[in-house]
Amino acid sequence: MPHYPDAMPGSKSLFERAKKVMPGGNTRTTVFVDPFPIYAARGEGCRVWDVDGNVYYDCINNFTSMIHGYTHPDVAAAVVEQLPFGTAFGAPTLSEIELAELLVDRLPSVDRIRFTNSGTEGVMMAIKAARAFTGRPKIVKIEGAYHGSYDFAEVSLDSSPSNWGDMPRSTPYAMGTPRGVLDDVIAVPFNDVEALRAVFAAQGDSIAGVLIDPMPNRAGLIPARRDYLRAMVEIARAAGTLVIFDEVISFRLGWSGAQGLWGIEPDLTALGKIIGGGFPVGAVGGRADVMAVFDPTRGKPALPHGGTFTANPVTMRAGLASMRALTKESFAHLDTLGAFLREGVSASFDRHGLAGQCVGLGSLFKVHFTSHPVTDYRSVYPGQAEHRRFDTFHKGLLGRGVLSASYGLFALSTPMTQADARSILHAIDDILGEIAAQR
Ligand code: PLP
Repeated sequence: MPHYPDAMPGSKSLFERAKKVMPGGNTRTTVFVDPFPIYAARGEGCRVWDVDGNVYYDCINNFTSMIHGYTHPDVAAAVVEQLPFGTAFGAPTLSEIELAELLVDRLPSVDRIRFTNSGTEGVMMAIKAARAFTGRPKIVKIEGAYHGSYDFAEVSLDSSPSNWGDMPRSTPYAMGTPRGVLDDVIAVPFNDVEALRAVFAAQGDSIAGVLIDPMPNRAGLIPARRDYLRAMVEIARAAGTLVIFDEVISFRLGWSGAQGLWGIEPDLTALGKIIGGGFPVGAVGGRADVMAVFDPTRGKPALPHGGTFTANPVTMRAGLASMRALTKESFAHLDTLGAFLREGVSASFDRHGLAGQCVGLGSLFKVHFTSHPVTDYRSVYPGQAEHRRFDTFHKGLLGRGVLSASYGLFALSTPMTQADARSILHAIDDILGEIAAQR
């Protein structure tokens, strides 16, 4: 077994080198693992190899974006075909229209769409569009939910128990967040209709948009209740507020994303991750009248939006190939693998008598080292003991050939077979057994 960190000397030395030119050797906080992350050398199908030659089942898939894993032949061919023709122009291309058509076709709530370079920008433009359309300043978001690294989206992302009152307080995630940002973002508890009603009763006429990821990963990967989402739409519509779905991750749950599964039509939707076929991407889409805030055909739009590399043809063609390859059969396959793993991991917790559970839907699952019901961000907030377990779990899985997110998230990919899922489950069962024995 390639024990972490002893079997990764190449990664260790790259990290030492990285530290001389990047703060803490790091460009993405999320990939840091103490004492050093493994450095990827290549990927193929559902596997990645590190620079030391260790091979892993990839259950991060670049934080859920690589839904076909690596080197999907159609995606690779699309990129290779585009390269000799140029990679980015100061002019639109056909490929942008084709990807827009595919997405508008799959998402009934989306009449018009615009691309961005990241999910963060997609959410940011959705928030700005809601403000421009309604002329109001405020946004409502769910406590603990992640929506990218943008001031307004980061409020109350990581609120610690010392800040918990009956209602979430708007707390900054990053140092230096301006006070005005906190004033204009109202955090609410997840799946709580009464709390939402109370916020709208008090401030409804100043709320531009209510932003929700229907299965917020950082807040526990707990699916929103359908009745909650329905009530959210009703409360928001009554107040003239727009409903914004952040489907940057949850679009991988089905043909029409989470909104299709839940049967909800938001006013605006932010996308990202899988729609770029492995290249930097994001998008904002929604009702034609709302999206008209971006329309430049009648002079300066209410909401100007650029981006030097936005909708570049490499990303667009990779995204198109990747989305075309994501058929209804692909979703059925991913659902089967996901259900098998969620059941298997839950059974493994039980068998080892270990406090814990496995949540999620479709191709996504997450473990929590707690046996009390998980309902929202606060109920999954890890104490020190759980933090230690996550660390042992993550590193133990690396040693067993499985790459997962350090906070217990797993994202599956279409090239995974049932046999691969059994091997992943075996590795998870083994490390849970070891954690149970350590008590
Ligand atoms: N929204 C959600 C729900 C996300 O999970 C993420 C990224 O993980 C984002 C937005 C931001 O996307 P990006 O990392 O592409 O900026």
